[in-house]
Amino acid sequence: MDVTAPPPGDAGLAVRDLAVNYGPVRALREVTLRVPPGSIVAVLGANGAGKSTLLRAISGTLRFHRGSVGGGVISWAGTRLSGLPAPAVVARGVTQVPEGRRVFARMTVEENLRAGGLGARGAKESAAAREEVLALFPVLAERAHQRAGLLSGGEQQMLAIGRALMARPSMLLLDEPTLGLAPLVAARIAQTVKEINARGTSVLLIEQNVTLAMSLASYAYVLEVGEVVLEGPTAELAAGDEVRRRYLGITGPQDEEPRKLAPARLKIARWSA
Ligand code: ATP
Repeated sequence: MDVTAPPPGDAGLAVRDLAVNYGPVRALREVTLRVPPGSIVAVLGANGAGKSTLLRAISGTLRFHRGSVGGGVISWAGTRLSGLPAPAVVARGVTQVPEGRRVFARMTVEENLRAGGLGARGAKESAAAREEVLALFPVLAERAHQRAGLLSGGEQQMLAIGRALMARPSMLLLDEPTLGLAPLVAARIAQTVKEINARGTSVLLIEQNVTLAMSLASYAYVLEVGEVVLEGPTAELAAGDEVRRRYLGITGPQDEEPRKLAPARLKIARWSA
């Protein structure tokens, strides 16, 4: 039996015992998680926990950061993704929106979208994708001929997501889409993520805004120092007192601890799926 092959019938995204290294730095260890088809799953964790590394490993972009997979397997819809270069991962329907709302600042909105559609299967599909993106983000149609660098932060994030959607992914990897955005703008982005998901795209969402992530996702994993230390349905995670306080930063009215993920490591039994 090939132990590195995805298990038969494993739909959605499956990450099993993933280990990732940057040279001598072990960034992820035995990370196992699933994103069932059609769902939104969140990965939470403090700075340096390994969240971006996880997305890089899935999207095949680790090598651009001098990282390498040290073990484990990643599969999507029963097809193995591990080891594939980034364009091949996109071709299989898995697209990443990188952290930091990266857009081509000197190119127009239209040109940015066109660049995102290069992987699409043909002109017809590319035009359909463009229409879907502009329906989702009407502001991008209004700004079609404006340089992307002149857009507001929220609009740039919309463009970054829109560009990823031009490949018509069935699985979207989102790295901190609301980072640094005003609350109202963040709420607008969150609403869009819901709409994208309602149209049938599965989402793996990396977020430091725990409240927002918990409101979007049905299931969440907490990463600490490269390992999954906690997982569970978001409704259950949000209801557990110690878990809320120590890991999820959701504090009660009398609790004076700051709203952030605790760096301390607690031994908590994993919540089973
Ligand atoms: P943040 O929210 O700050 O982006 P993160 O949870 O996404 O944090 P990662 O960026 O994945 O965490 O980093 C995980 C670990 O890997 C950290 O210890 C980090 O210093 C290290 N690391 C990340 N990128 C590299 C790299 N290119 N070279 C060496 N070490 C790296």
